[in-house]
Amino acid sequence: MINQKAEMYKKIGISRKVWEYGEYMEKHLHRRFHQIDENAEYNQLKVIRAMQENCVKEACLYTSSGYGYNDVGRDTLEKVYASTFGTEDALVRPQIVCGTHALAVALSGNLRPGDELLSPVSKPYDTLDEVIGIRSSRGSLSEYGVSYRQVNLLPDGSFDYEKIRKAINDKTKLVTIQRSKGYQLRPTLSVQQIGELIRFIKNIRSDLICMVDNCYGEFVEKQEPSEVGADLIVGSLIKNPGGGLAPIGGYIAGGKKYVENAAYRLIAPGLGKEIGSTLGVTKSFYRGFFLAPSVTAAALKGAIFAANIYERLGFPVVPDGKESRHDIIQTITLGSPDAVIAFCRGIQAAAPIDSHVIPEPWNMPGYDSDVIMAAGTFVQGSSIELSADGPMKPPYSVYFQGGLTWSHAKLGILMSLQKLLEENLVVLPGK
Ligand SMILES: *Cc1c(COP(=O)(O)O)cnc(C)c1O
Repeated sequence: MINQKAEMYKKIGISRKVWEYGEYMEKHLHRRFHQIDENAEYNQLKVIRAMQENCVKEACLYTSSGYGYNDVGRDTLEKVYASTFGTEDALVRPQIVCGTHALAVALSGNLRPGDELLSPVSKPYDTLDEVIGIRSSRGSLSEYGVSYRQVNLLPDGSFDYEKIRKAINDKTKLVTIQRSKGYQLRPTLSVQQIGELIRFIKNIRSDLICMVDNCYGEFVEKQEPSEVGADLIVGSLIKNPGGGLAPIGGYIAGGKKYVENAAYRLIAPGLGKEIGSTLGVTKSFYRGFFLAPSVTAAALKGAIFAANIYERLGFPVVPDGKESRHDIIQTITLGSPDAVIAFCRGIQAAAPIDSHVIPEPWNMPGYDSDVIMAAGTFVQGSSIELSADGPMKPPYSVYFQGGLTWSHAKLGILMSLQKLLEENLVVLPGK
């Protein structure tokens, strides 16, 4: 049996040495993987219960066109998201193009000229720079008279409560909290930490809207930020909650008024949630959400495996091999452009689609340096599928995420290591 498997790895391009190192590492992670499966089991029940409570029926899987009046599948799906995340309401739409779009809609729907936006957790995700106007951009919130303030995390990753208290003023309207570290080397926030921060903020002014950018965080823990006080949570369906099956989409879940405000912005004032046809994607949204807890578990196992594989080879990794997890992203600092390129080429070479393609760094819209991306995905740019991104700037880190199955995530990581070895960029440890 073992030899058969080793033989198959060899056929697909993994040397015996790399495979044995992977087997060794996997054996040491069994306890950890068991905890992840327990978490996935809990979240699977949570989703099924939400589907049952809201009476999802076969008719919900049908499609609508045009205005999409009385689209029962769409309306019920939004109730399923709301029940799962413990919110009053949700907007889950294929008309939301990506995570940045969902965040832009939630922000601009709930902010008015003269209001101030506060980020108490350092700089948000790069693509939000232009949404907010941190980098000046046409149509930014700043152009519409919404000001922005930011309080950085302390060097140890904790909240700077004193500065946050001082930053909150009469104009402050909405506080945006990014759960995942994104393209930064700060730690990802746990749901518990987010809850503590929101309690602190609401104690200062209970009317502030607390919004969480929940990208990459869904189903990693048993609770979502909306269950610890967030008024709004926002994410992308081509990340965790789409389960790899949603071909597009985003969600905004939270208090009824805030979700409605977002819907008026996404569609039109006065129309809001009542319209918006689903064009045949509803079934994949349901199926993807149903699979999302176990797909997220596969991605988490991949992230933990990668951390342990590369940590032992001497590369700095965030989170480290033992830390608890609050999102599915793994950062590995490889220290040189060549290593970043080799790593990404390995991920690409392990893909089911476009494995022959050789990724190159390029100047992507929304990013401030060249970025190399590896993604042989069924859905373009889907990062719940196995993928890696590396901004071509020091300290030359790769951000690795996804994997619809654990076996595929494992292959991708072994292939990345294989490529690094072939380029003499790494030495395997002796036994
Ligand atoms: C991915 C991501 C976004 C943006 O989502 P896109 O779908 O790439 O537009 C925003 N915030 C965080 C934390 C993300 O991980």
